[in-house]
Amino acid sequence: MARVVQKFGGTSVADPEKIVRAAKKAAVRHAAGDQVVVVVSAMGKQTDLLVRLAKQITDAPSDREMDMLLSTGEQVSVSLFAMALQSMGHKAVSLTGGQIGIRTDSSHTKARIQSISTDHVQDLLEDGSIVIAAGFQGYDPDGNITTLGRGGSDTTAVALAAVLNADCCEIYTDVDGIYTTDPRVYSNAVRLATVSHDEMLELASLGAGVMHSRSIEFAKKFGVPIVVRSSFEDGPGTKILSGATMKRTVSGVALAKNEARITVEDVPDQPGASHQLFAELASQGIAVDMIIQNAGTGGTADISFTVTDQDLPAALQITDRVAEAIAAAGVTHNPDVAKVSVVGMGMVHSEGVAATMFDALSAAGINVHMITTSEIKISVLVDRQNAQKSVEAAHKAFGLDGFVDESQATGSLPVQKSDPLEVVRRLEGMEDLAIEDCQLDMSQALVTFLDLPDTPGVAAAVFKEVGRAGLNVDMIVQSFPRNGRAELSFTVPASDRQRAIAAATTIAQTRGAETTDVPEVAKLSIKGVGIRSHAGVADKLFAPLADAGINIDLISTSEVRVNVLVAAEHGKRSLSILRTAFGLD
Ligand code: ASP
Ligand code: MG
Repeated sequence: MARVVQKFGGTSVADPEKIVRAAKKAAVRHAAGDQVVVVVSAMGKQTDLLVRLAKQITDAPSDREMDMLLSTGEQVSVSLFAMALQSMGHKAVSLTGGQIGIRTDSSHTKARIQSISTDHVQDLLEDGSIVIAAGFQGYDPDGNITTLGRGGSDTTAVALAAVLNADCCEIYTDVDGIYTTDPRVYSNAVRLATVSHDEMLELASLGAGVMHSRSIEFAKKFGVPIVVRSSFEDGPGTKILSGATMKRTVSGVALAKNEARITVEDVPDQPGASHQLFAELASQGIAVDMIIQNAGTGGTADISFTVTDQDLPAALQITDRVAEAIAAAGVTHNPDVAKVSVVGMGMVHSEGVAATMFDALSAAGINVHMITTSEIKISVLVDRQNAQKSVEAAHKAFGLDGFVDESQATGSLPVQKSDPLEVVRRLEGMEDLAIEDCQLDMSQALVTFLDLPDTPGVAAAVFKEVGRAGLNVDMIVQSFPRNGRAELSFTVPASDRQRAIAAATTIAQTRGAETTDVPEVAKLSIKGVGIRSHAGVADKLFAPLADAGINIDLISTSEVRVNVLVAAEHGKRSLSILRTAFGLD
């Protein structure tokens, strides 16, 4: 006997017929002797409808009443779903978030789960009932109804699977799995057979759009295996697993279309400047995506970052104020940019990925504004009008057009059953930020081009040359260009430093640029889940370093990782400061 959680999204329960069809899937599992928990979203576009209704009453409905209103959508679908099962002769009970005991904090419309009591659901399951749980809702310590943010039913499903020690969490939706890129953006996208939690995290909030990215953070943190499949046709779907082994270099191309860039120019290169900026943004709940601080010259550095275009006005207001306070030269912004990323576990072990990516973009005539990398991702910022073309170019360049994914779920990882005490521990602070690790790497040298021309093809030419020199590049950061010149930095193993400088000098000479290098840098990488969805991570990271008077030389970020470079002499001390700050000791 297995225990499964099945989640049906709005499109899968859009009308009575579809509810019956979905209920049959649960019924089949139940009849086979499995314990089944079903999580459902509101029918079809019901939640949107409710939002519009509220807007017809007032422009500024209170968050508490919005939650009261929106939670009714799921209450309708769970009861109908239970009736459908009962009419098929199965025992079924529908429960609201409150009845299950999904406790959240009090941040209405974007609440975080704090704990889930399992007793009631366990009893019902033992008694042979199918439990139909309302997705997306909970209640706060004062008994108010809360919701988890749009798309939050995925998070409910994965969280229930985690606390109930389910063998699998099946996500039924209107697509038949996870694709190499959004098929609506590029029709040559193909379905993946397996994808890892880390890849999904790097892809999810980037527009893969299939799952709520907080649900993947949960799945990773608690090791919940997920299958995403279509509720309308039978098929293998896509398995999302921890550490699935992949033969391919790149698994997907993600597009975050609605980004806006803000650059603070000539920030005095001293401890605390970035801290002040990101602390204020975090305190207003503005999630910052890409953060790039260049290596800086003449005692100042530029800091660029991206936010969603929705958050741009508020972010600009804060940034203007902070820029003045820290005596930066000025603030520029661009509301029409997009971030294109290639993601793949296979990148860790293959060379030339950057060269392939930049080459493809340059051949398509696309200019790259900023670059950041993580272990398994390269992200570039481009003009929004070039977004589609960039996705296509990258998808083709990495052989994903027509790709047949033959990867197997490696022995479909055995689920680790936890003991009851462990489950109780899991219930506490379920959605807290989980910084898994903070590491210090002292083995790298930094090479920087100070003023490369800002034209398409420059990054491609650089990394082609770097590849020809046989250099193994780790971090790549390109900050936002000023006056038509871009600063591009990369790190290599210190033992390759001389060769890197030689290659860089050749490149620089032909382009009329200058280079500098730092023979030994300290790279600190903070890895974990929740980095993207917790507005304050950047702040938590910068504050203690600033307090200790340690200056940050270079920053780059991804969904699951933040890298900072500091002077080598501060490496060890920075590590212990950060380990303490994130409670890793
Ligand atoms: N019904 C909610 C929404 O539309 C939650 C969900 O579908 O996951 O956002
Ligand atoms: Mg949904």
